[in-house]
Amino acid sequence: MLKVLKFGGSSMADAVQFAKVKAIVDADPARRVVIVSAAGKRFKNDNKITDLLYLCHAHVQYGVACDSVFEMIRSRYLEIRDELGLATDLESEFDALRKKLDKGISQEELVSRGEYFAARLMADYLGFDFLDAELWLKFKLDGTVDQEVSYEKLQRAASGRCVVIPGFYGTMPDGSIKTFSRGGSDITGALAAAALDADVYENWTDVSGFLMADPTIVENPQPIEKITYAELRELSYIGAQVLHEGTIFPVREKNIPLNIRNTNQPDHPGTMIREAFDEQEELDQRFLTGIAGRKNFSVISITKNGMSSEVGILRKMLEILEKYNVSVEYIPSGIDHVSLVVVTEKVAPCLYQLMGELQKEIKPDKLHVIDNIAIVAAVGRKMAYKAGTSGKIFATLGENGISIRMITQGPEELNIIVGVDNKDYANTIRVLYDSFVKKGEKR
Ligand code: ASP
Repeated sequence: MLKVLKFGGSSMADAVQFAKVKAIVDADPARRVVIVSAAGKRFKNDNKITDLLYLCHAHVQYGVACDSVFEMIRSRYLEIRDELGLATDLESEFDALRKKLDKGISQEELVSRGEYFAARLMADYLGFDFLDAELWLKFKLDGTVDQEVSYEKLQRAASGRCVVIPGFYGTMPDGSIKTFSRGGSDITGALAAAALDADVYENWTDVSGFLMADPTIVENPQPIEKITYAELRELSYIGAQVLHEGTIFPVREKNIPLNIRNTNQPDHPGTMIREAFDEQEELDQRFLTGIAGRKNFSVISITKNGMSSEVGILRKMLEILEKYNVSVEYIPSGIDHVSLVVVTEKVAPCLYQLMGELQKEIKPDKLHVIDNIAIVAAVGRKMAYKAGTSGKIFATLGENGISIRMITQGPEELNIIVGVDNKDYANTIRVLYDSFVKKGEKR
């Protein structure tokens, strides 16, 4: 049994958090591979080390002295080391870094040091080996990860060992350091879990998993206990703040479960993400897994008698949108009617030309645009098996005075998507949540 763990910045913020991480790792001998982020915020207005490193580089770039920022970074790590009573020799490393900084260091190399120092300290504290990501995480010239080479190198380097790996960076073919986009330690963790065929990838953060709805809209939403990768994709596509796509694909590809956990509440099971759950596990699964949405869509509504038998008409419409580089989010349609749902911001600059072309090429009987539309998706893998689901959703919204401007459903009946006026957005989410989750209309 092998568990690969990734700890985010808040879990690495100070000595107290380091101690929590150690307790978690020590609690299970299967937890042998640990990936860490740079130290994050200790309190609300604190600074993240990675932000300070970017700032430090900006100072150097513009010829402004960076001593005070550099010192903030250095003292954060020295403080953690001293409070934990470790003997890690960070002074000489910081001296060397300072010299390199004066000579000229790339931004990516400098910011990667946040993870590097965090991992050095954590390795000493856990009594694990430090395994630098530069030794195994290899990028190709086009900036994508060379999975084959990286996996093989990590398998060799980590086999049979307990290791701590810095997240967020790897090396280019010329040996220079390259970082992922912000938040990229999640990707390092997922790659390590996939490379080592872990039994689970535990992603430790400061929340107990995903919530069923946005907590700024719904008061105290319930956590999502189990979610499939497909559902997660639906929710994040429509706007839920969940994991970055890049995080998911390496573990999803290998069918490795991903467990989101809370370092500050280690007994909470968090959210488990898997390709599928077995029947037994599904027994207590709710009817809705989560609700998410976004505002500010436009619906281009096209009606033409006999449209459904006109070959190629949909292609013509889509080609016009393609010409203006506008992507279509959803296409709800009826026999003689098609609606094209697009992001208002993307279509606004070319709307008049685009409508003119649709008029000319399609010759519709009716053509108009409705703005200020919000899209809300109710996602749940169990919805497909329950008759009358959509009817119930529509009735509930109607009873609450919300008029539905558009309806569409995913092909696998994983989700039901409704378009409502922007002003009804929050209320739609609340009504759906209250009627399907709170009142127990769920299992
Ligand atoms: N430290 C990096 C960041 O702040 C990467 C990470 O934490 O995942 O973006």
